[in-house]
Amino acid sequence: MIRLLISDKSGRIYKHSHLEGVGMKAGHFFRLKPTDLIKLPPASSVFMLPHRIPVGFEPLTKSMIVLDGHNACAAFLPPGYTVTYNAAFKEDPSSKILPLFSYAAVVSYKGSPHAAAIRIDPDRRHDSMLIDISAVRKNVKRFKKIFGRNRLIPHLERCALVYGCPNAQNFFLNRHEAPLPTSPACNASCAGCISYQSGKTICATQPRIKFVPTAEEISNIALFHIDNVKDPIVSFGQGCEGEPLLAGDVIERSIRLIRDKTSKGTININTNGSLPETVSRLFDAGLDSIRISLNSARKIYYTRYYNPKNYCFEDVLRSIKISKEKGGFVSLNYLTMPGFTDSKDEFLEFKKLIRLYCIDMVQWRNLNYDPMLYFRKLKLMPGKEELAGIKEIIKSLRKDFPRLRMGYFNPALLIN
Ligand code: SF4
Repeated sequence: MIRLLISDKSGRIYKHSHLEGVGMKAGHFFRLKPTDLIKLPPASSVFMLPHRIPVGFEPLTKSMIVLDGHNACAAFLPPGYTVTYNAAFKEDPSSKILPLFSYAAVVSYKGSPHAAAIRIDPDRRHDSMLIDISAVRKNVKRFKKIFGRNRLIPHLERCALVYGCPNAQNFFLNRHEAPLPTSPACNASCAGCISYQSGKTICATQPRIKFVPTAEEISNIALFHIDNVKDPIVSFGQGCEGEPLLAGDVIERSIRLIRDKTSKGTININTNGSLPETVSRLFDAGLDSIRISLNSARKIYYTRYYNPKNYCFEDVLRSIKISKEKGGFVSLNYLTMPGFTDSKDEFLEFKKLIRLYCIDMVQWRNLNYDPMLYFRKLKLMPGKEELAGIKEIIKSLRKDFPRLRMGYFNPALLIN
C-alpha cells in the first residue's frame, strides 16, 4: 500500500497508519498508483514543508483528508529526474513562500520512500556519488598553478566547493561539461531566478559572477577542458550568472579564439534566447549548440514568469529559428511544473513549437518554485480534467517525434 509520509511539528517524518499518499497538480489532488512512483534516488532530500497541511487519501471512505496539526513532506530529487506530481498540501493562512526547490510528492511504498517522478536522463554526470570532492580540492590547487591569474578559477572554485555546482566540480575533475560563466547582468526577471532575487521573501541560491571575464580567460579554460576530456562540452550560461547573450561580444571573441585552435569539443550556450542577432553572430563564430529556457510555449505565461525587459517572446522564437538555420543543435530547457506543463492547452502549443522549429531535444528540468505560488503568478488554475499527465505527454511526444531527444543534460555532439 502507498502510505502518506507526514511530519509532526518537531520535524520528525513518519508514515501515516492508513492514509494513502497523494500527489498535487495545480491545487488538485490525485490518488497515486504504484506506476506513478520510483524508489527515492540516492542524493535526494526529504523535508517537511512549514505551514503546509498534508492531504491523504482515506481508502475506506474514498475521500481526500486534510490532516490538521501536521506538516506535509516533499522530496527534492537530484538532476536527471523529472517530477510528475507535487507534494499534496493545503496552505495555512500564515504560510510563507517556499524556497527555490522542486517539491515532488513523497510516500512510503513497499517499506521504502518513493517519489512521484521519472528518470528522464540515464547520464550520471551530476551524480554526487561519483564526485570525489577531495580530488576536486586537489585539482583546485593544481589548476590555480596552471592558470595563474585567470579570475575564472577562483570563481569556479567557489562554485565547486561552496555551492556544490556539479558542472564546476566536473571541470576540476576533467570530465563532461565545463561551465564558462560570463555575464553579471540579465534582461529578464524570472520569478524563480536562482542567481538574483530583488525582494526579501526568496533567497537566490547562488550569487552572480561580479565581473565579465576576458575572451582569453574564457578560451584558456575552454581549450584546457577540450584538450583533456573525452567528449568535452564547454557551456556559457550557468546558474552563477545572468544572461550570457548580454556578454555576446566577449563570448563571440572567445569562441573564435577556441575555434582558431581546435575543432574538437562541443561549444554550447544556455540562454533565454532574447537577442536573436547575437545568437546569429555566435553561431557564425563557431557555436555548436544552444539550450533555450522557457516555462511555456505561450507568450502570456512566458511573460508573466520571465518578466522580460527590452525583448519579447517573439525574440525567443526568432533565436530558435536562427539557431536551426545556422545548423545548430537546439534544445529547449522546458521548465516543468506538474499541472501547468501537462495542461492540454500548453501541451498543444508546445507540440506546435516542436514541429514548427524542428527542435532537436527537450530537457525536462524541474521548475524550482513554490508549486502554488506559481499558478498565482501565472494567473491560471487549469481544471483537473485538463491535465494530461507529465509521463503521458512525454510518451506522446516520443511517439509523434521519434527523432526528438528527451533528457536533462546537454549532449556532447559528434562533431570531431
Ligand atoms: S533568464 Fe536566467 S538569469 Fe535571467 S532572470 Fe531568468 S533565470 Fe535569472
